[in-house]
Order: sequence, then C-alpha cells, then structure tokens
Amino acid sequence: MFNCIQHNTIIQANTDLLQRDDYQCPSCHRELVLKSGNKKQAYFSHEIDQGCKHRDPKRPNPKAKPKIKHTTINKADIMLTFEKLLDQILSLADDGRGQSNG
Ligand SMILES: [Zn+2]
Repeated sequence: MFNCIQHNTIIQANTDLLQRDDYQCPSCHRELVLKSGNKKQAYFSHEIDQGCKHRDPKRPNPKAKPKIKHTTINKADIMLTFEKLLDQILSLADDGRGQSNG
C-alpha cells in the first residue's frame, strides 16, 4: 500500500522514510514496514502477513495494460453524430421561437 498512518496522520510512502517508524495499517492498525526495492517506488507492507485484506483505493499497477480502445472513427460516424446533435439543437431552437412568437 502507498498510504499508511503514522502518529494519527496519513502519510504516503516515499524512499526518504525510514524502514520502520511507527507505521500503522489504516485497516487493521498493525505495524507496517517500508519497502523500497530496486525501483524508486516505495510502499508499505505488513511486517507479518496476518490476513489483512487492506488495499489502497487506487492501486497503481505497472503491469496493467492501459485500457485504450483502438476504435476506428470514420468521418461518416462523426457526421451522423453531429447531425443528430444539430437536429436536437434546431428542435430546441424551434421550440424557443414558437413560444416567443406566440
Ligand atoms: Zn492491515
């Protein structure tokens, strides 16, 4: 995890921190240790894995592939969408005119 509690304050893991310095798990409040491997990204881990399922709300996963859909957008599709929007705008404008003109 990348956030933990230290002296009732939420702190974020970074390589400048000590390996042990009263880090607490936000979920089970057990002791955490700072882990910083070869990569510069530091993180906290339970000193002893006691089955705590705490996970950061947003856990960056470097192995995860970016969810980019390769969709082919062609001009006809854009024009169709545009025409639909234009239709809606025009019909709204028509309503406005109709009311103001009586
Ligand atoms: Zn925990």
